[in-house]
Amino acid sequence: MREIAIVGGGPAGAICGEHLARAGYSVTIYDEHLAWEKPCGGGLTHKAIQAYPFLLDGPYPKKLIRNVELISSKGHRAHLALDQPIVIYSRTVLNGLLLERAEAAGCRIVRSRVNQIDTAGQRARLAIGKSREEADFIVIAAGARNALLPNTRPLSRNDLEMTLGYFVPARAEAIRVKFLRRFEGYLWSFPRCDHLSVGICGSMARHTSQELRRHLHAFMAEENIPCEGAQFYSHVLPSPQPQTLSARRVVGRNWALVGDAAAWVDPITGEGIYYAMRSGDLLAEALIADKTLEYPARIRKAFSSDLEFATRIARRFYRGRFLGGPVATRMIQFIEWSPTFRALMADLFGGSQDYCSLKGRLWAQCGKTLTEVVGSLMKRHPALAKSAPAASTENLH
Ligand SMILES: Cc1cc2nc3c(=O)[nH]c(=O)nc-3n(C[C@H](O)[C@H](O)[C@H](O)COP(=O)(O)OP(=O)(O)OC[C@H]3O[C@@H](n4cnc5c(N)ncnc54)[C@H](O)[C@@H]3O)c2cc1C
Repeated sequence: MREIAIVGGGPAGAICGEHLARAGYSVTIYDEHLAWEKPCGGGLTHKAIQAYPFLLDGPYPKKLIRNVELISSKGHRAHLALDQPIVIYSRTVLNGLLLERAEAAGCRIVRSRVNQIDTAGQRARLAIGKSREEADFIVIAAGARNALLPNTRPLSRNDLEMTLGYFVPARAEAIRVKFLRRFEGYLWSFPRCDHLSVGICGSMARHTSQELRRHLHAFMAEENIPCEGAQFYSHVLPSPQPQTLSARRVVGRNWALVGDAAAWVDPITGEGIYYAMRSGDLLAEALIADKTLEYPARIRKAFSSDLEFATRIARRFYRGRFLGGPVATRMIQFIEWSPTFRALMADLFGGSQDYCSLKGRLWAQCGKTLTEVVGSLMKRHPALAKSAPAASTENLH
């Protein structure tokens, strides 16, 4: 197998192409836009930077952010100071640099839309406008709206979030994230070099676009984010169900899905660029080792068991209650009151704490966290110090 066609030149397709071309494969990447401002926050966490250090070290414009402000539905605020920065790119810059690397490794880059693929024969076939191409293997890296589905099911509404946002000509030095009551999703403002990416994501099955738009405009007004000159965007974002991660077919004899097309996205934070790049790499490794069908097992070992764990807590995080209030509100209060909990959440947001080991760390630090929370409450409400520490949760309003 020597000839590879990759549909989509985003992070997943570009990295997969680069890896395969370096190993001597003949690779063509087709993308209808090439480097474009794909609707996105553009934030890369520590795990992405560790795996791909050129994203931090390279000369391309990017913004390094170490401060995150979390806002509850009632307006409580907590600050996280990150040990490792979140690196934020404009997607035109990020896609451009990844495609440049792929081209330098030997990939042929073609600006075209692939309309159809046929994987039934010995060689796979692609319909590109009026022309027909063939390849030994097709990598489908066409993102969350992918409609090229050889022998697998499309993502359902339950696997997708709707996103709306604006690129705003303004500057800031901190990421802001706001949670809403009874809302599966969140609002964000991500500062880039010369503008902000401000947006909202919410479950497609549970919320309407009007609802999202209303929340987004209210957030921008509350946070004094100007609307003048802002450029609107909308897109879909995978938010996979557990069975989608564990059972959806992502590979066949001569095809495989990578990145958003395979729904490899963190269902709580919406982080997808790292998983897109890692899945592109892992598919390339499986192809080079001539063990293509091992690709899902390699993904599971690398990250999808962690994402599956996240899917199980996502609903509880957004809809559940803890100590009589929404989980997100309690999380923000605990961050404010407990340095131990704050450090844990900074690692989680920064990408150095995974979900699978989160429960263990929470349990191990539970006593210290509660002592700090109670101590902080007593300082704020001295009257409490006179009664039993656990007397009431009324002050958690
Ligand atoms: C609003 C929003 C905010 C986000 N914020 C973040 C964030 O801050 N951090 C993070 O890690 N992730 C974020 N994500 C997720 C992230 O954008 C994706 O996970 C990531 O881009 C997936 O990469 P990909 O290569 O799989 O797909 P994409 O980046 O979507 O690339 C797919 C490519 O395929 C091309 N294409 C599609 N169909 C065809 C076709 N038929 N023929 C030819 N070309 C085709 C497109 O032009 C596109 O370039 C966000 C997503 C959204 C929607």
